[in-house]
Amino acid sequence: MATSDRMSTRRLAPIRAVGVDLARALASVAVGVVIGVFTTMGWALAAGLAVWLVSGLAPAWRFRRWCASALPMPPTTGLFWTGAAARLHTSVHRARQRTRRLVSELRWLQDTLDSMPDGWVVLQRDGAIEALNAGARSLLGLGHRDRRRHVTELLRDPSVGALIRGEVEDGIVELPSPVDEVRRLELRHIPVDDVRSIALIRDVTTLDRLLTMRQDFIANVSHELRTPLTVVIGYLETLEDDDIDPDTLRRLLDRLRAPVDRMKALVDDLLTLTRLESSPMPGPGDLEPVNGQTMLKSVVDEARALATPAHDIVLEADPDVVARGVPSEIYSAFFNLIANAIRYSPDGGRVAVRWRAGESGPRFEVEDNGLGIPPEHISRLTERFFRVDLAKSRVRGGTGLGLAIVKHILRRHRTQLEVRSTVGEGSLFYFDMPTFAEAREA
Ligand code: ADP
Repeated sequence: MATSDRMSTRRLAPIRAVGVDLARALASVAVGVVIGVFTTMGWALAAGLAVWLVSGLAPAWRFRRWCASALPMPPTTGLFWTGAAARLHTSVHRARQRTRRLVSELRWLQDTLDSMPDGWVVLQRDGAIEALNAGARSLLGLGHRDRRRHVTELLRDPSVGALIRGEVEDGIVELPSPVDEVRRLELRHIPVDDVRSIALIRDVTTLDRLLTMRQDFIANVSHELRTPLTVVIGYLETLEDDDIDPDTLRRLLDRLRAPVDRMKALVDDLLTLTRLESSPMPGPGDLEPVNGQTMLKSVVDEARALATPAHDIVLEADPDVVARGVPSEIYSAFFNLIANAIRYSPDGGRVAVRWRAGESGPRFEVEDNGLGIPPEHISRLTERFFRVDLAKSRVRGGTGLGLAIVKHILRRHRTQLEVRSTVGEGSLFYFDMPTFAEAREA
């Protein structure tokens, strides 16, 4: 309504201006005629002209005032001014629209740059801070008050000065966060022109941690493989002896088996772990009914091969309890846990394997009366290569990866491993499988 009013006012303005001009002209002529009756023609003309000029002063004044504010439609200013005023109004209106658009685009750009989790700081040639976004403020602990201060005054790490002076070869340095020493920041310096440069700041703590984990992992794997390899190389050197008698040869070959088996177990576990980590989560199509009783019978049979004859392995399984999962993965989780129960309990030890309906789905349990685990180690059991006792694990054929594999398998089935243990008395490892409906939703 208001817009259409404004538009009709704009359209009517020239008509009204003509009316005003006509009235002014008529008034001037009338005054001239009246004066002319009493005086000469010259006075009549002068009086008419004076009226015309004086009556034009008010619209001219209003026009001046409008020019200063220049947004509403110009007031009626007289025929000769109206056309120019309307054109001026249109161009001012357009210029204002353009400015408004530019301002809103600039604001959007600023908000976008501000909402980036990474930080950026615009620096002047001498290293003084010109502008910075919210990311830079939180990562570096700076504020708006720090504008115009030199960046090396605020970030004392010597690498920052070298970076700003262009003395760092690839223009990137890493330093501890000034806000939290545990966090690591990466600073990249990019010159923009002769006057300004930009410093980009990224939190690389997680990346650093992953790199360290990878390096540790490679070091662990190399170390684990090196030990049996050294044993194998030692035996091979003895085998090179030409005078070796057949009995010794057989004995040596028998001894070679253990380190070779160890390397194979390690490589198998590494491959399993890598496959689990890199495979997508199982979809509904990958999940099959898992009859725990049937599967556990064959797992226990296979595990018995690890056990001394004196181990007493008891299986109590409810044949009606059926879970849903990836059968090969569930088999592997069962096997690793049962093998550990045998491995870490003494000859004559008792291992109880149970499969029953739990409160929140099928439950698997394996309990032993073995070594037990000190409470401070329980939270680390599923870390790769973590062992409570390295020598015992190696002697008993452990790779240090079994529980890491179990953790990944259970995570892929949206469940987790629970452990209860008492040193010298034994351990209970258990987990609940998702119910049928939960597995389908997954
Ligand atoms: P490993 O191949 O060495 O057995 P795991 O990842 O399977 O590696 O287990 C990690 C460590 O947890 C073992 O080295 C052992 O110290 C401890 N552990 C696992 N299961 C048991 C258990 N049933 N009883 C006592 N300790 C156990």
